[in-house]
Amino acid sequence: MKLKLDGWQLGITFSACHFLPGHSKCNRLHGHNYAIHMHLTGEPDANGIVHDFVELKRSMKATADEMDHCVLMPGKSKAMKLEHNGTQINVSFGDKSYSFPEGDVRILDLEVVSAEMLANHALDSILGRLKLGRNITKVKVGVDEGNGQGAWASREL
Ligand SMILES: [Zn+2]
Repeated sequence: MKLKLDGWQLGITFSACHFLPGHSKCNRLHGHNYAIHMHLTGEPDANGIVHDFVELKRSMKATADEMDHCVLMPGKSKAMKLEHNGTQINVSFGDKSYSFPEGDVRILDLEVVSAEMLANHALDSILGRLKLGRNITKVKVGVDEGNGQGAWASREL
C-alpha cells in the first residue's frame, strides 16, 4: 500500500534562491517556489494505518521551513569558494562574487543546489526526523522546482 502526500496541496512549500555555477543562464542568482512531496510504501498495522499523516507532514514542513526565504548554498561545491567573513558569507566563482548576511544563507551538505540534489537532501532530512515502523519498506521524496517539474529521491528500508 502507498501513502501519497502532495506538498502543493498541503502547503508544504518554500521560496528560496540559488545559482548553478557553470550553467549558462542559471549561474545568475534567481529564485523558485519549491514544494516537497512524499510517497511511503508499507503495509497497514493492526489499526489499519501505514503511518500517521500528521507526523509525516510535520517532518516535511520542518524540512521546508529550514530552507524557506533563504539563499541556498552548496557547502561541498567544487566550482565555488565559500568564505565566512565576520557575519557575512562571501561566495565566488568564475569572475563573480557575492556577499550575504550569514542569517540569510542556508549551507547545505551538497555539491550543487539542483532540484535533484535538493530531493536527496529532503529525503535525508525527513528520514532523520521520523521514526518509521518495520512495516515501511520504501520512502520517496520529491522536490518540485516550480509547479510541474521536479526530482525524486528514494530509499528502500
Ligand atoms: Zn534555479
